[in-house]
Amino acid sequence: MKTFEDLIQEVQKPGLCRQCGGCVSFCRAAHYDALEMGPKGEPRYKDVSRCSECGLCYLVCPEVNELVEETRARLSWAEPIGSVDMVCMARARDPLIRELSTDGGTVTAMLLHLLETRRIDGAIVSRQPGPFQRLPFLARTKKDILLSAGAVYAAAPEASFRGGRCSTYVSSASSLPELEARGVARAAMVGVPDQILAMRKMETMHITPSDRIQYYFGLFCSGGFEFGPRRRARLEAMGGFSWPQVERVNLKERLQIHLTGGEQADIPLERMDFMIRPACRYCRDYSAELADISMGGLGAPEGWTTVIIRNENGKKAYFEAREAALEEMEPSKMAPLRTTALELIRHYSQAKRRRGVKRRAELEATVA
Ligand SMILES: Cc1cc2nc3c(=O)[nH]c(=O)nc-3n(C[C@H](O)[C@H](O)[C@H](O)COP(=O)(O)OP(=O)(O)OC[C@H]3O[C@@H](n4cnc5c(N)ncnc54)[C@H](O)[C@@H]3O)c2cc1C
Repeated sequence: MKTFEDLIQEVQKPGLCRQCGGCVSFCRAAHYDALEMGPKGEPRYKDVSRCSECGLCYLVCPEVNELVEETRARLSWAEPIGSVDMVCMARARDPLIRELSTDGGTVTAMLLHLLETRRIDGAIVSRQPGPFQRLPFLARTKKDILLSAGAVYAAAPEASFRGGRCSTYVSSASSLPELEARGVARAAMVGVPDQILAMRKMETMHITPSDRIQYYFGLFCSGGFEFGPRRRARLEAMGGFSWPQVERVNLKERLQIHLTGGEQADIPLERMDFMIRPACRYCRDYSAELADISMGGLGAPEGWTTVIIRNENGKKAYFEAREAALEEMEPSKMAPLRTTALELIRHYSQAKRRRGVKRRAELEATVA
């Protein structure tokens, strides 16, 4: 049986650990309390004497191949991007939600609808204490969910860039143990692909805290990006803008930098390699292939969210929210867009998978 020690050797030391928080969240939720997240976001031993060497932390790691096949089979995963039941373009009916959100606010509107109809008592999301900084967060009220809307960056004066890491990635899974402590029996989880995979592996093993997650909302993800001062300066030079001009940043086919006065400076993702978090270079999932519903801006017009419904659970949640809280694009406009969106998602997924596999093979060759 492999243990956390093997995760250190096989995943952390070679630089593959994404810091999703899956291993720590299981260990804490099961009250073993042998692991914790370190100050740089790395999972580590908190009290090695409490480790029972059960090996479950090893199995839930999204970088470990064990359980991936079983989990995929359980969720009817299919080539090339997982199960796809329907693709839609939607946005929140409420203009306030649209204003606060990254794309169409569909994620936020669906979470609110689930909360208001008492399908869930809370949601694992992330909130933004400062520009490009996010923290894992268990939202339990309408206000909490609204405060955690949005994903990448909203306008902020340069002075408010605080110390600490500026990254678009957050260890969302590390707030999962709070579900029990705060009496949340049924939750939705919003996460990027590796976070969804870690939780789905727990579900395959029927281990806590996955029993509390009723809905998995995946976000498309071309990678987590670091926005430290030097990288921000390089981006400024590349895009020919200055940060005080920036109103909003979004990730779709490109990094879209929306400037005051309606101008936009776009940076192709291929040119952003210098900003990608090292461990994200090995990720092979773009569209959160194991979620109930995956959402992103790719393929959708500005202000809309592209929605991939993957199973009955996702379909029911989406249809119910559509009745009350979502506006779906008119069928005649949506039909051609959904075809292009699906092609784009397949294209980006294939490119990400190829890159991840190649880099992983190169890494293994250097380690061997
Ligand atoms: C790191 C990252 C990379 C992304 N890359 C792409 C991309 O390449 N292409 C693309 O089309 N879309 C990408 N997205 C998704 C996109 O930015 C939007 O989140 C998605 O389109 C949903 O939009 P919305 O307006 O419906 O969501 P909103 O209503 O704004 O809700 C977004 C939800 O996501 C949660 N959230 C925010 N950041 C994180 C995070 N880091 N980890 C977990 N949850 C988070 C928020 O708390 C909120 O609940 C990315 C998102 C992230 C977080």
